[in-house]
Order: sequence, then C-alpha cells, then structure tokens
Amino acid sequence: MIKNNLDAINEQIDASAKKAGRNPADIKLVAVSKRFPAETISQAYDCGQVLFGENYIQETQDKRKVIPSGAKIHFIGHLQSNKAKIAADTCDMIETVDRFKLAKILNRHLENVGKKINILIQVNIGKDPRKSGIQVENIEQLLVQLQELKNLEIDGLMTMPPLESDPETSRIYFRDLRILSEQLTGKGLFPVEKKVELSMGMSSDFTVAIEEGATIVRVGTAIFGQRAEL
Ligand SMILES: *Cc1c(COP(=O)(O)O)cnc(C)c1O
Repeated sequence: MIKNNLDAINEQIDASAKKAGRNPADIKLVAVSKRFPAETISQAYDCGQVLFGENYIQETQDKRKVIPSGAKIHFIGHLQSNKAKIAADTCDMIETVDRFKLAKILNRHLENVGKKINILIQVNIGKDPRKSGIQVENIEQLLVQLQELKNLEIDGLMTMPPLESDPETSRIYFRDLRILSEQLTGKGLFPVEKKVELSMGMSSDFTVAIEEGATIVRVGTAIFGQRAEL
C-alpha cells in the first residue's frame, strides 16, 4: 500500500509541477511519519523514500535509533527550547524555527558539537492564533539576528496555513509565502544566488502548493493512511 501511495503522490507532484511550468526535480517530498512506527519508515525507505517528517521529539529520538541511517528526518512540530539539543542531534533539518531564543540554543549546541544544520523559518502566514510561527512583520528582524549564528544554514520558509476545507482557499496563503520570500530576497535577507526553499502543502492541498511555488511538500495521511489519535 505504501509503495502504491508513494507512486501516486510522486505522479501528482510531477503533474502539478509540469502544469505550473516547473521542474518536478525542484520539489522534495517529506513523508510525514508521525505516530507511525519505525517499521513504517523502513518500509517507505525500501520503496525509495528518503525524507521523513516528525513532530514529536521523544518519538523522533526513539525512531532515529532504529531506522536506516540513510533516512533523513525533518522536524516539523513545535519545538520547545528545552528539546532543541535533541532535535539538533537527531534531525537533518528543523523546519519550525520561529524565534531567536530557540535559534541561539540550537546554534550554541551545534557549535559545541562542531556541526551545522539546515533550518527553515516557520511563518504564521494566516495570522492563525492556533498555529505557531513568527508573524510576518517580525521576520526581517529575525533574519538579521540569525546572520550571526554561523552554525545554522537558513534555507527558507515553512508554513501551516489555517485549516481550510477547500484547498483553493489555501492557495492565497501559499502565494503570500512565496511573495514574502521574494520580498526578503529583494531586501538581501536571502542570498540572491540561492533558491529559497518553501515548505508548504499537506495531503489535502500539496498540488495547489506546488502550483504556487512549494519546493518541499509534507504529506502524511495520503501516504500512510489515518494516524492513531493521541
Ligand atoms: C501532520 C503534519 C503534516 C501532514 O499532514 P497530512 O494531512 O497527514 O498530510 C504536514 N505538516 C505538518 C506540520 C504536520 O504536523
């Protein structure tokens, strides 16, 4: 089942990219494996899936010990400052950096262990009080502050728009995130020569996100099925 689902999602990624005149190779699929057992990751890895998304630090730590070493984990959940070190040790990318305090803790730890990590800034693009992420008006200041943290590689932006029943309603948020990234590049806050990563779109709306410029889509349910409730 996982193999068929992965094939189907990859086909939809290709089709949406082509529809938007984009190169499908510019879009990465993060398979969101939260609340599924480590064996599920291993199965998907055997089908060729390399990137996985996890939301909970304890779960990430447990899974990291047993999944294939080639599997890469993107942390996509809310990250508490007291869990930052574990995230830096166990993940290949942290998509949810949304405050300087957290970034400083990550950076200090990475300095100590002599490592760099790739991060994204989580933006609360829809001003949704139930969602984490920095507010748009504060992002420039954060990006300036981050320039002094040499062990963090800032690859781009991530967002979780307000939950909408119709994916077309999410389109405007995805577009806003892309426009924001272009404005920030225009202001020299992202290097012009680097392609800014945009992590946006989930099972219900990743095709729309790709049409609006997503370079990373985070898909769980459509690959692995319904998650167990907490
Ligand atoms: C759970 C989760 C996803 C995946 O959601 P699905 O609807 O299962 O595809 C994507 N991004 C984040 C941040 C999540 O927490």
